[in-house]
Amino acid sequence: MAIHSLTVLNRLANGYLRGRYKPLFAELSITLKCNYDCAYCDQDRAAGGLPLPELRLVIDRLAEAGVKRVSLTGGEPFLRKDLEGILDHVAARGMKSAVVTNGSLILRKEHLVERFSEICISLDGIGKYQGTNRVPSRFEDMEAAIDCVLRHGVPLKLSFIISRWNAAKENIDLIFDYCNRRKIHFLITFAMHDVPYLHDKNDKNVLSLLDEGAYHDLINYILEIHDSSPYILISRKAYLGLLHWPDTRMMRMSAADVSRMGIEDFSPKRCHYGKYSLFVGHDGQVAPCCMTTGIIGRRNLLTDSVEDVLGSVREHDCLNCYNVYYTHINHLLSWEGLNVALMRRLRHTVHL
Ligand code: SF4
Ligand code: SF4
Repeated sequence: MAIHSLTVLNRLANGYLRGRYKPLFAELSITLKCNYDCAYCDQDRAAGGLPLPELRLVIDRLAEAGVKRVSLTGGEPFLRKDLEGILDHVAARGMKSAVVTNGSLILRKEHLVERFSEICISLDGIGKYQGTNRVPSRFEDMEAAIDCVLRHGVPLKLSFIISRWNAAKENIDLIFDYCNRRKIHFLITFAMHDVPYLHDKNDKNVLSLLDEGAYHDLINYILEIHDSSPYILISRKAYLGLLHWPDTRMMRMSAADVSRMGIEDFSPKRCHYGKYSLFVGHDGQVAPCCMTTGIIGRRNLLTDSVEDVLGSVREHDCLNCYNVYYTHINHLLSWEGLNVALMRRLRHTVHL
């Protein structure tokens, strides 16, 4: 069941007018283990996640904090043998479960598909572009997983991550065509500039993204064809923001960074992650988002009180990042977002 618009409006209004924030949605990493070896993945994939009894406590505390939708992430969440028990507990605490997955195990766990209110599959691209970063994977297998989710009538989102080897206009065209034809919502994001492209075993200095000129060409191309798809979930405004990011070697910027670098023509927006959304790492540690884990917050839902945890992530000095998805959600969560059309978009994008 969808979370009522009034709940969402109430939460946003309470935050803006009274300074009382309650998170609406959370990402919860249930394992760092993964059956893939993506070229830009620097997660500690040997690490697992919390055992089920501790995970239940974390889920209880998310419910206590006011969270309405928990998005299970990893690593690869479908690797957890006790996934059904996790889903049972999220449902028992009155929250919706979504999942972000590489899609490879969906067919094997088809009996769980309908337990999710939304499934997001991360991909490299269509046809020959699948498997350029995400090894080992074939588009045919991904398509079987996509068909499976659609067959069960579960809302599906495809998330394409562009890095050095799948950054081609042809791939962008294929993504638009495929999603338009199949009526599937999608987002296109970018691997970070300063992350090494780990599949180049000979040269650790090869970065995950193209040089800045080629990168900007690709963003301009997305902007050019953006309006040809009703299914793209990230706004033009968020992609435009990428073109104005002052230093692509930096993933995020604080107020101190902006003043240290003496940037005058850059006006960062405020970040609302930590107020309306949380990221819970594989060990229970909480941060505003997955990019700030271990940096901002550093409280743990297993050992610290919910109030203390929320306080530690609510106010932070991280202003803006060049993660285009976070930028887009931040816009929808902003004061400007307090109107019915944008609130609908927020509910639709994060599937509230
Ligand atoms: S699917 Fe995700 S967790 Fe697994 S290797 Fe790729 S990026 Fe890392
Ligand atoms: S600005 Fe981006 S990186 Fe920084 S806390 Fe917000 S969402 Fe995370």
